[in-house]
Amino acid sequence: MPSLVKKYNEALDIMLFILKDFSSESILTMKNSIKVIEEFHDIFDTDASKISTLYYDFCRLDELYEIEEAVEIGFKKFLIKNIKETKSMLDYHNHNCKTSCIICKTRKKMEGELFERKRPEIPKKHKK
Ligand SMILES: [Zn+2]
Repeated sequence: MPSLVKKYNEALDIMLFILKDFSSESILTMKNSIKVIEEFHDIFDTDASKISTLYYDFCRLDELYEIEEAVEIGFKKFLIKNIKETKSMLDYHNHNCKTSCIICKTRKKMEGELFERKRPEIPKKHKK
């Protein structure tokens, strides 16, 4: 399967939006996952290894058992579907957002919940 996302920062940005409807317990689990990935950057030394750890930890969230669709299609497929949808939403947003909107606000809120220190910068796409 070709990977949908190649950069860890982009995967992280997408994960912020996927997690916005999850419980604070799940968000805390993923916060710890992100912390481990970033603290052990000599072990997780490629974007691919960071991204797969992030996805792996997401697929182990207990809360997924409570989501009918996730149980039905499988956690991995559920994640991939959400990544695809969020990625197209964000690609559109990054090209079109002029000032600040609900997506910018959600991103800021989720960053506050998921990162302890300042996070790495999100690559900004240039406007045409
Ligand atoms: Zn915006």
